[in-house]
Amino acid sequence: MSDCIFCKIINKEIPSKIVYEDEKVIAFNDVNPAAPIHILVVPKKHIETLLDVSDEDSAIISHIYKVINKIAKQEDFAKNGFRVITNCGRDSGQEVMHIHFHVLGGKKLGDKIVE
Ligand code: 5GP
Ligand code: ZN
Repeated sequence: MSDCIFCKIINKEIPSKIVYEDEKVIAFNDVNPAAPIHILVVPKKHIETLLDVSDEDSAIISHIYKVINKIAKQEDFAKNGFRVITNCGRDSGQEVMHIHFHVLGGKKLGDKIVE
């Protein structure tokens, strides 16, 4: 059994507020939101970081962008805009070692991506 918190969410061993799910991807609300809209989009395949994405995984990554497009329309923040962030490794502060895409919106976000 996996110790990965996102694999546990995918397997429904840990509850989450799911906003989208298909056979390859799950999206749920971040438990500690940094903006009024803060959704995590996660491939069901356990890939640790962006550096571990193989050629055969590239279809999953492009699918994730299509899913983000769908969620933005479904959750009605597409027209106001939003930001997508993937942390990778130590300097980014990546906490969960299962690749994920933060989708942030619901307010005017800061002009700077990093402080
Ligand atoms: P990272 O720093 O790895 O890019 O982002 C990890 C994110 O996962 C953080 O924003 C954190 O709030 C979120 N997170 C960590 N554990 C859980 C959890 O159990 N449930 C949910 N919904 N989000 C979590
Ligand atoms: Zn995992």
